[in-house]
Amino acid sequence: MSQLEIKDLHIAIGEKEIVKGFNLTIRQGEVHAIMGPNGTGKSTLAKAIAGHPDYTITSGDVLIDGRSILALEPDERARAGIFLAFQYPSEIPGVSIANFLRGAVQARLAEGDELDATAYYKRLYSKMDLLKIDRKFTSRSVNDGFSGGEKKRCEILQMAMLEPLFSLMDETDSGLDIDALRIVADGVNAMRGPKLGILLITHYQRLLDYIVPDQVHVMWDGRIVKSGDKSLALELESKGYDWVKTELVHA
Ligand code: ADP
Ligand code: MG
Repeated sequence: MSQLEIKDLHIAIGEKEIVKGFNLTIRQGEVHAIMGPNGTGKSTLAKAIAGHPDYTITSGDVLIDGRSILALEPDERARAGIFLAFQYPSEIPGVSIANFLRGAVQARLAEGDELDATAYYKRLYSKMDLLKIDRKFTSRSVNDGFSGGEKKRCEILQMAMLEPLFSLMDETDSGLDIDALRIVADGVNAMRGPKLGILLITHYQRLLDYIVPDQVHVMWDGRIVKSGDKSLALELESKGYDWVKTELVHA
């Protein structure tokens, strides 16, 4: 079983330190939720792990099965098993979802290997069935004019096709109405299993009504300040983030 280890990670944007000693280990099969107020570094953490060039890792390490991924380019990290679902996915007019995903899957193959079209569509349709996505969906341009829910559905289909070891999902609930939220949650739950480790970043407790995490972590000022089971999310919902702050001051 693979594990993703985030060890005493410090991340800066320019001169400013945003993530200040973040520690977490995620094993395949586990779902960890990170909650925290806006501006606390949740997105910074996810993007830096995926290899976004704006973020500098100043110290600490990120390892998959004991091997650091920090020297790898973003595409190599993806091939090593990391998937990042964006908070705000890009629109790619003129490129159909079917072709986009085909390119993404092809890029995973070894040099010179050609993706078999029949096998690809078979896999695509089985994933779409699993996620209850209409076949017509894949002929549309990637995220072009999509609703918030459709964009998230497209991200989740990508994740299903790429079969990562670890998926970092950043505010998958942002901009979603309650029906769309359910669709996304159902998708994540459909893919949940022993082969996938999930880091679910959310600002709201409501997503966790549908996706029940194994562990909940509260992030504050760039690090985890509290961890617990799903009841911690409920406690946060009723007491608010100020409660955590007050506890910290008195600790
Ligand atoms: P969260 O996702 O928890 O709301 P972020 O990681 O987005 O927090 O942001 C943490 C801090 O880093 C904020 O103060 C934000 O303004 C700053 N920040 C994030 N991304 C950038 C960027 N690309 N350039 C400059 N500052 C940034
Ligand atoms: Mg964010």
